[in-house]
Amino acid sequence: MKTYDVVGWVYDGETYCLSHPPAKISKGPIFADSEWDYYPVCGECWERIDAVSLTGDGVKYEHESAKEHGVECPVDSCVFCRDESRRAALKPGEVK
Ligand SMILES: [Zn+2]
Ligand SMILES: [Zn+2]
Repeated sequence: MKTYDVVGWVYDGETYCLSHPPAKISKGPIFADSEWDYYPVCGECWERIDAVSLTGDGVKYEHESAKEHGVECPVDSCVFCRDESRRAALKPGEVK
């Protein structure tokens, strides 16, 4: 994946995945290296566009909301997950 690859679209405050480009000429591209405070979600299929970069706040947000919903953390090389597994490794018996 190149940093200037288009990974989605944004139009009128909504974000869309590559499979569902809004049929409007004024749509803007979402580039792979753009930074978000959360993963944009397609307004059509609700799929998470996780090919973008997250800000520090974004990583925290996605990590914590995944925890809250009891789902797997969607963040690639998440620093919070890394810290947690490191902490777990220090306490034998608590390692999953
Ligand atoms: Zn979509
Ligand atoms: Zn995480």
